[in-house]
Amino acid sequence: MPDAFLTEPDVVLIGAGVMSATLGVFLRELEPSLRMEMFETLEGPAQESSEAWNNAGTGHAANCELNYTPEQADGHVDISKALQVNVEFDLSRQFWSYLVRKGAIKDPRSFIHPVPHMSFIRGAKNVAFLRKRFEAMSAHHCYHGMEYSEDRQQIASWAPLVMEERRADEPVAATRIVTGTDVDYGSLTRQLVDHLGASGGFSAHYLNRVTGISRAEGGRWRVEVKDKKSRETRAVTAKFVFIGAGGGALPLLEKSGIPEGKGYGGFPVSGIWLRCDEPDINERHHAKVYSKAAVGSPPMSVPHLDTRVIGGQHSLLFGPYAGFSTRFLKHGSLMDLFESVEPSNITPLLSAARDNLGLTEYLIGQVLQSSGHRFGTLQEIYPGADPDDWKLQVAGQRVQIIRPDAEHGGLLEFGTEVVVAADRSLIALLGASPGASTAAFIAISVLEKGFPQELAASGWARKLREIIPSYGVSLIDDADFTRRIRADTAEVLKVDNV
Ligand SMILES: Cc1cc2nc3c(=O)[nH]c(=O)nc-3n(C[C@H](O)[C@H](O)[C@H](O)COP(=O)(O)OP(=O)(O)OC[C@H]3O[C@@H](n4cnc5c(N)ncnc54)[C@H](O)[C@@H]3O)c2cc1C
Repeated sequence: MPDAFLTEPDVVLIGAGVMSATLGVFLRELEPSLRMEMFETLEGPAQESSEAWNNAGTGHAANCELNYTPEQADGHVDISKALQVNVEFDLSRQFWSYLVRKGAIKDPRSFIHPVPHMSFIRGAKNVAFLRKRFEAMSAHHCYHGMEYSEDRQQIASWAPLVMEERRADEPVAATRIVTGTDVDYGSLTRQLVDHLGASGGFSAHYLNRVTGISRAEGGRWRVEVKDKKSRETRAVTAKFVFIGAGGGALPLLEKSGIPEGKGYGGFPVSGIWLRCDEPDINERHHAKVYSKAAVGSPPMSVPHLDTRVIGGQHSLLFGPYAGFSTRFLKHGSLMDLFESVEPSNITPLLSAARDNLGLTEYLIGQVLQSSGHRFGTLQEIYPGADPDDWKLQVAGQRVQIIRPDAEHGGLLEFGTEVVVAADRSLIALLGASPGASTAAFIAISVLEKGFPQELAASGWARKLREIIPSYGVSLIDDADFTRRIRADTAEVLKVDNV
């Protein structure tokens, strides 16, 4: 017998990852009477990208990721993108703090841990860049407390493994921010879904795959769901549908047929980590150390050596090594890429392929590289690494967006896109970057696009400001507010503040 669900809910959430779970909690808090159903292909929540080992668990605040601070032709370092990502993370911190205070998340240590964020580079030219980057960032209140050093002993005290056995004549430099975090997005997602389940008017249906989305009478959406155990297909109709299906979002958006979704394509990138669980090595590393990406590599393959805290266990993660696979999900089908091709996206797909031959070459090169070569990349950051201490760990899939573009035909993008139906009744989330860290920012964008009238009404507006006290305030401009918000959320989430 398939499990029972409401046939006419207000909201259908497709996918049980961090994005649907976060949006579901926002909606529940803003409108307790909403009836919501969540459908998920797999056996439980957070088994694709949101699962802890499928992503790097960086609480992305653009502290250490060098790709967010490009050097301009005139030599100055542009920190505007970094600032934007930095304050988006403040929204997640406020959302999580609200849930901890409310008791919906019992212990912040179940999902978030203080782990300093470092950037580490080698070579005189890179050192000059990092110094300039530090000068620009540390002058802004959002990066208060950032430290910089070219001193080998100082860097060794911050990250011993990085400096052990390193050539003495190699110029090096590093920055550090002690307020950085490691986040177990899998644990977080499970707690958000549990909270939704406990709040009533919500149920999650696992092993239930959404197979069709079409318009029903009265402007509702008919969502067809196949139960993988009974093999029965049933349908619900909903006023609002959120396609938070991660890599599975593009095919579902195509099925909905909304004109706003026409022309989009997807480019899947797979990933592998190296993982070390040896306690004596783990004891000597407590940081997320981001370095510089190889020439020609996509922004999400910046190598980093990270402390991870998952289920109370400390591990080290290094990578990602990107690769090419035609699957859109880790549990997806090799046919995913081919089945996503439609007459409307052939031109964007072909144009993006033509304009990104270098990236394709890079990804194929990554797939073909030997384990020795792969290990060599780790030794550039951790020279004393021993292959016997490390094993391979398969990461999640990311589907990068190919967006239709009048001038180029199609553009490959590494961000996130919220695609909205003209009548606001269906919203799909495409892309995967900066990722789970900005789930609260993305959920708020979905609310602003999907529910503008409700959000303008006093009830929702008041409640949203209770959840996100900085809503409507620019933390990039307001130094006092930023200091207060950070001190408050650091105390609740038990992370460091400076
Ligand atoms: C290698 C890698 C490293 C990353 N590192 C970081 C990081 O350090 N920090 C960070 O913030 N983010 C990171 N990310 C990004 C982050 O993991 C994602 O942005 C986030 O998890 C996406 O959440 P989601 O809910 O959209 O997708 P998912 O967690 O993938 O959830 C989507 C769900 O939808 C389900 N689904 C799909 N199709 C259907 C269907 N037809 N019917 C029903 N259910 C369906 C899937 O089974 C899945 O459970 C990383 C991602 C990868 C791959």
